[in-house]
Amino acid sequence: MKRLGVLGWPVAHSRSPRMHNAALAELGLKDWHYQRLPAPPEVFEETVRALPASGFVGANVTIPHKEAALALADESTAAARAIGAANTLTFSHDGAIHAANTDAPGFVAALAGVDVDPAGRTALVLGAGGSARGIVYALREAGAARVSVWNRTPERAAALAADLGVEAAHRPAAADLLVNCTSVGLADGEFKELPLDADALGTYATVADLVYRDGGTGLIAQARRRGCTVVDGLEVLVRQGALSFEAWTGLPAPVDAMRDAARGANPDAHDPGTSDPSDRRTADARRPGR
Ligand code: NAP
Repeated sequence: MKRLGVLGWPVAHSRSPRMHNAALAELGLKDWHYQRLPAPPEVFEETVRALPASGFVGANVTIPHKEAALALADESTAAARAIGAANTLTFSHDGAIHAANTDAPGFVAALAGVDVDPAGRTALVLGAGGSARGIVYALREAGAARVSVWNRTPERAAALAADLGVEAAHRPAAADLLVNCTSVGLADGEFKELPLDADALGTYATVADLVYRDGGTGLIAQARRRGCTVVDGLEVLVRQGALSFEAWTGLPAPVDAMRDAARGANPDAHDPGTSDPSDRRTADARRPGR
């Protein structure tokens, strides 16, 4: 058995097991399995180090472990180091741990899926947390003409902007592409806490929202209503997962099967990964990760 999984705390909400097991089934990889790996911070490192000897080929990493995953790796990609976080670990035969970040290229792949190329475009990123760092890096590397960062706590936007060589914005400014990397919308789908006027959303050609929830988010619904090209958080999830899958299996990811599984009405209905009682104890639907 070749094993894969997602490390997080909490991780009960994760759609990754369903998405990756659908991909494995689609390709007939019957001796592979992907599962949840609930790991509180105090045992994260020892959990990771035990995985290779238990047949694990690799693992995704989600909240709150992405920085720790990068720190413990024996080797890492330049992108993961620049972003400061890893969401994909791959174990070699001798147990060495390789860290990569597929969030950034996954976002660019999601944009490509709707024929949007950030090269030469202007972008406004809302948020200055972990995901904003990856998205700003992705946009910069993809050749965006200008990337601005707005954040509720301006000091964090300024620090991120200085670190990655982009601009901090005191208020949301006009841009070709708007990306919500805050957690606003997670609880109720609303975006009232963001300084955005729904009627002005049409000024952005493309609107992306990293937040995903059952029923979608108001930001995506309002942007779609105003004719914007939209990318929702589930598509970003699917695209980063596809890149992780390819890194582990060496095979092209069946993206359509992964998307169907991720968008399923009840992602846990047939997923044996939910059987871990510690998952249930720590479930927190307000913080969907991988
Ligand atoms: P994070 O590091 O905790 O950062 C949270 C960000 O949200 C901060 O910039 C914070 O601003 C802002 N924020 C929180 N509450 C706010 C409010 N009421 N008004 C305005 N801003 C607020 O989180 P993250 O890891 O970057 O994740 C952000 C969201 O993206 C989460 O919902 C996560 O689930 C989602 N996500 C999705 C994917 C995907 O594949 N689709 C991948 C990664 C993350 P302050 O600095 O002022 O606190």
